[in-house]
This record gives sequence, structure tokens and C-alpha cells, in this order.
Amino acid sequence: MSNITKVDHIGIAVQSIAEARAFYEKGLGLAITHVEEVREQGVRVAFIPTGESNLELVEPLAAEDGSVDGPIARFLEKRGEGIHHICLEVQDIEAALAELVAGGFRMLDKTPRLGAHGKRVAFLHPASAHGVLIELAEKN
Ligand code: ZN
Repeated sequence: MSNITKVDHIGIAVQSIAEARAFYEKGLGLAITHVEEVREQGVRVAFIPTGESNLELVEPLAAEDGSVDGPIARFLEKRGEGIHHICLEVQDIEAALAELVAGGFRMLDKTPRLGAHGKRVAFLHPASAHGVLIELAEKN
């Protein structure tokens, strides 16, 4: 895994980006530069650059019938707001996944899927990462 180039972002689960942004913008003087809905994951994300890495606020999206479900909604229900995942940038996500699968590590995704910014991403199971949900995102 010499493939990893930096921490791309730290994902923070929030109930509401609209409410959380005041702390990051007024409190810390940072700016949200990009907001995007990732429908297939049932979330809206807001990116906050912090030098060469970012913070990613992740809020659950309501479905058309008003119900809220999905991994972030369940995370918030169980544990409340807080750090949800760490995303590492990789040069070649296929190579990284092949190495991890060959190494016998538990994966949530064995093949990349489409994440925010149109990047190819994959999640590792926290059981293989000592309790941390790790996302890999390919540099684009
Ligand atoms: Zn992320």
C-alpha cells in the first residue's frame, strides 16, 4: 500500500449541515466550498478545505416519503454526531483493493463505487481497521 498519498478527508456525521456550518465557518473561520448529494449512499456532503486535507460533513438525506434511512442515519441514531470515517487518497484504487483482498482484510466494497466529486471510492470494514471506518478515494 505504498499507494497512499495523504489523508483526503475526515468524515463527520451531522444531523444537519445547515446547523453545523456555523461552527466551522464562524467558529473556526473555515469555508464550505462544495456541497453535493450522493444519492446512492443516501447522504448530502459538504467539503471544507483545511490545507491539503478536508473535513467532510455528512448528513442523511430524507427519502421522497420523508423517511430517513441509510448508513449515516443509522450511525447518528446509534452514536450521535461525531467522526464517522477517515478517507485516504490512493493513486490506484484497483491495486489497493486487490492488495487488501489478497491480504484477507474485510472489505465493505471489493470494487470501487462512485463517491463525491466523481471520485472512485471504496470502504474497508472497521473490523479490519481496529474500529475505524476507512474510505479509500482515488486521486483524480
Ligand atoms: Zn468520505
